[in-house]
Amino acid sequence: MSTNPPDFPVLNLGPRTGPDGRRIRYGGCICGAVRFEVRGSPIVVGICHCLECRKATGADAMPYADWHAKNFSVTGLIRTFVGRSFCPECGTRLFNLNRDRVSVMLGSLDDAPGDLHPVREGWILRREPWRVPVRGALQFERDVQ
Ligand SMILES: [Zn+2]
Ligand SMILES: [Zn+2]
Repeated sequence: MSTNPPDFPVLNLGPRTGPDGRRIRYGGCICGAVRFEVRGSPIVVGICHCLECRKATGADAMPYADWHAKNFSVTGLIRTFVGRSFCPECGTRLFNLNRDRVSVMLGSLDDAPGDLHPVREGWILRREPWRVPVRGALQFERDVQ
């Protein structure tokens, strides 16, 4: 939509696997003030079409992947609105973090395209008619069960 800002952060700075052999994924906001990483495989990958996810992202749906909170770390100042965290500097939406789980918005990860494939879709009642269901993903009219 526009060119990258001149100080756009360098992506994928760290090693792709940790000392324990687990995959490390990096992410962050567009201004680079917030950086995070997740280690190992996600618990689940999905897409939510609910009204709140639409509003919070400004997009038609929110693709996400969840990890145990212990496999997540973040640097930089964040702000949080009803569980949804973002960079107060540039406004990039990042993740929902609670006590034992983090739900990372896929677009905030550095790798694109990535290897995370949604296995479920929630609130398909609100899915735009031009967006096709993800092949093989469980479909839920409202909240995922
Ligand atoms: Zn930022
Ligand atoms: Zn949602």
